[in-house]
Amino acid sequence: MVVVGAGGHGLATAYYLAKNHGISNVALIEKGWLGGGNVGRNTTIIRSNYLLPGNEAFYEQSLKLWEGLEQDFNYNAMVSQRGVLNLYHSDAQRDAYARRGNAMRLHGADAELLDRNAVKAMAPFLNFDDARFPIQGGLLQRRGGTARHDAVAWGFARGASDRGVDIIENCEVVGLAIEDGRVVGLKTTRGDIKAKKVGLAVAGATSQLGAMAGLRLPIESHVLQAFVSEGLKPLVPGVITFGAGHFYVSQSDKGGLVFGGDIDGYNSYARRGNLPVVEDVCESGMALMPMIGRVRLLRSWGGLMDMSMDGSPIIDRTPVENLFLNCGWCYGGFKATPASGWCFAHLIATGQSHPNAAAYRLDRFASGAVIDEKGAGAQPNLH
Ligand SMILES: Cc1cc2nc3c(=O)[nH]c(=O)nc-3n(C[C@H](O)[C@H](O)[C@H](O)COP(=O)(O)OP(=O)(O)OC[C@H]3O[C@@H](n4cnc5c(N)ncnc54)[C@H](O)[C@@H]3O)c2cc1C
Repeated sequence: MVVVGAGGHGLATAYYLAKNHGISNVALIEKGWLGGGNVGRNTTIIRSNYLLPGNEAFYEQSLKLWEGLEQDFNYNAMVSQRGVLNLYHSDAQRDAYARRGNAMRLHGADAELLDRNAVKAMAPFLNFDDARFPIQGGLLQRRGGTARHDAVAWGFARGASDRGVDIIENCEVVGLAIEDGRVVGLKTTRGDIKAKKVGLAVAGATSQLGAMAGLRLPIESHVLQAFVSEGLKPLVPGVITFGAGHFYVSQSDKGGLVFGGDIDGYNSYARRGNLPVVEDVCESGMALMPMIGRVRLLRSWGGLMDMSMDGSPIIDRTPVENLFLNCGWCYGGFKATPASGWCFAHLIATGQSHPNAAAYRLDRFASGAVIDEKGAGAQPNLH
């Protein structure tokens, strides 16, 4: 069996194939180096604050797996449940967050609706005085937080490798061998491989791999940038998101503010972004916490997002027999990593969708049963 892509999802899939299903005859093929894709480029936020039934159970499963992950794979992934606070700035937004919080609690997740004073007590440095969009309160998930992204890749990799999985780096898949509608192997830059089953977990390269199987998928590739400031004394207690723009921030254990915002807004396979988005993200940051105007930006980089047309992922079979697909993670696939691997391994091993991922069907874009969490339609920049 072959899994393509040693990002978080491919590594977690290989790990759970071996651990949960006793399948260790697995080759994990990676064109670059382990963890060099989005798993090592994201802003590390983990949470399960979803609204729709197709999503909430899956992301709550993921958060529960995060809670035991370090003990499970015996690796320090610095999972830190420091809380995720989504700010609201209008009555309508408060009502939407109250509804989301209720949906979360119905699924067994934790959620608290905070008023302005409670937010001020938690984060007094936010702009409460003269903001264009005054902060009215926030939806808080205390169990949300951050994890060290590349340690997650290393932990899953070591756990999978210890169980017999072969991780093959610097090996690009350049073609799929398909006979009578069934995948029978792969062509790589280091030779051909025969395989009875192939799972694709290649994030931003999904359309390219899909094309090798003759599939045109409902995925667009976009750049998303992330930013880190110089180190500051401890300031930001958890993850905070701005409700009147697209901006999310946390503080790393080394002191840097880690933040991001929108995708760049055009299709690209380049893992670097453009200056207008740098400006836009920094403006949102300034609107939320004006004192960061004096902080120096240390680094920024880009990752390749696999944006689906309803903002929700795909974990499913494909029309090609024994070819399985894991993609469509948009901005939010890091937090999904454990559950994605768990459910994708379940699908590949048993041939059946895991109940928590049953809604993530490829044919929903044809049937219309989309999972449009944000109600934004087929617009990647709004997901
Ligand atoms: C800047 C940024 C910030 C983000 N912030 C967050 C966040 O705070 N919280 C959150 O939940 N999510 C976040 N995300 C999203 C999250 O990182 C991704 O959704 C998730 O990591 C994607 O899955 P992955 O880890 O498997 O992807 P990747 O790590 O990209 O793995 C895919 C792998 O496939 C390999 N590959 C591609 N083509 C081939 C080929 N032909 N042959 C062999 N291998 C191939 C790639 O080299 C890559 O290693 C962010 C993403 C970015 C870029």
